[in-house]
Amino acid sequence: MSDELLSLSCRKLTELIRRGEVSSRKAVEAVFSSIEKTEPVVGAYLSTFIDESLERADEIDSKIAAGKKVGKLAGLPIAVKDNMCTTFGATTCGSKILENFHAPYNAAVIERLLAEDAVIVGKLNMDEFAMGSSTENSGLKKTVNPWDVNRVPGGSSGGSAAAVASGMCMAALGSDTGGSIRQPASFCGVVGLKPTYGRVSRYGLVAYGSSLDQIGPLTRDVADAGLMMNVIAGHDDNDSTSVNEKIAPVPDYLENIEKGIEGLTIGVAPQFHAGADVEVLSAIEDAIEVYKGLGAKVVEIDMPHIDYSVAAYYVIATAEASSNLARFDGVHYGHRTAKPEDYIEVYSKSRAEAFGTEVKRRIMLGTYALSSGYYDAYYLKALKVRSLIRSDFTGAFEKCDCIMTPVSPTTAFKIGENIDDPLKMYLSDIYTIGVNLAGIPGISIPCGFDGNDLPVGLQILTPAFTESKLLRIARMFESCTEFHKRRPQKV
Ligand code: GLN
Repeated sequence: MSDELLSLSCRKLTELIRRGEVSSRKAVEAVFSSIEKTEPVVGAYLSTFIDESLERADEIDSKIAAGKKVGKLAGLPIAVKDNMCTTFGATTCGSKILENFHAPYNAAVIERLLAEDAVIVGKLNMDEFAMGSSTENSGLKKTVNPWDVNRVPGGSSGGSAAAVASGMCMAALGSDTGGSIRQPASFCGVVGLKPTYGRVSRYGLVAYGSSLDQIGPLTRDVADAGLMMNVIAGHDDNDSTSVNEKIAPVPDYLENIEKGIEGLTIGVAPQFHAGADVEVLSAIEDAIEVYKGLGAKVVEIDMPHIDYSVAAYYVIATAEASSNLARFDGVHYGHRTAKPEDYIEVYSKSRAEAFGTEVKRRIMLGTYALSSGYYDAYYLKALKVRSLIRSDFTGAFEKCDCIMTPVSPTTAFKIGENIDDPLKMYLSDIYTIGVNLAGIPGISIPCGFDGNDLPVGLQILTPAFTESKLLRIARMFESCTEFHKRRPQKV
């Protein structure tokens, strides 16, 4: 029974809960029994809230029994990446420096989930401060890929993707600065949506690269991503970068989701295929054939500046990170060194002791790029490249409705394979990073498997604030294929 419940979509399960045919308590219990079984192997969670979750489920069940109105996510067990502030439990960002940090307020997305009657069952592992592509940079825990426990789940939202793929929650939230929702979604065979920059409030999301970070859903199917967007999208007075709804109204993302796009034109760019594994490329080509079978037309587009996206990203993101992470000083937040000699040591030792290697590397890189004499050569130059990349996308969308690319050049790699080679790790996001620089939305959907039975993800991109169309395009593929229905059997 419990496995059956967990195989339902979020839409179906909440509908049954709402009708009183299944209780939220049952759904929450099913998730916790799955966690009990699977978590010791997969390691997706940094914290879980069993007692609070059952109590909340009971509250929602009694609201329903009393005939009261309940929200869009009524009774659904949902988990969130541990870089979103919650007043319950710790908010660690996968870092020793925040291991015992308890936030004084909820992130805007948490408030929205709670307002729609979701049950937040736990917080998920991630690369420290969202820096990484494999979750191996977590300072607190190891997470493995549920399809093959010797492989990484991707990152930095690796805990979110692994938990959704292995049925340890119904849906999850992740954050994406350069690919951190889409790449783990593709490695774990689930759907991952990075919304347009400004569509979802970042209030209460611990900042990494503020001009790039965006929160989005990881789900088992496309329509569930739409359901989650119906809850999290929208303006927030507490986030000045969240977009005014008069300028970009928030649609109902489920309303037309079953309606395909007539005369769909797909853009493909040679630059988006360079360097990908043969098996990944053939899955992408097959997926595009499926679209052609549905009447889509394919045009070649040119993205002359996209090859510079990784370089520009690692200047911009690290520059922003060096500034954002200055607040972790041993005084305001988190870990403080035990016996400092003087106040300089409070800063230097607290940071030296509790930040991991990758975070230190990026703080140094970003500080260097912003330092006087280098600012123009690196930071300003990277910003100029960013504008060129943005105009590449604008130009491309004059010729096509959407762009299709692989999410990552490979499927999930082995644990330890890339950890000593930061450049190789950085290239794992070569097809996703430009999307954050341009601020447009992107989705990863399961589109095939390689010879090792590992999932391959198809990335679809559309212009800013057209998530509704993006979801419809993604749903076209899903509605005539079975890849999204396969679940990992190995754990
Ligand atoms: N892998 C990229 C990085 O390490 C992107 C991470 C992210 O999107 N948070 O920065």
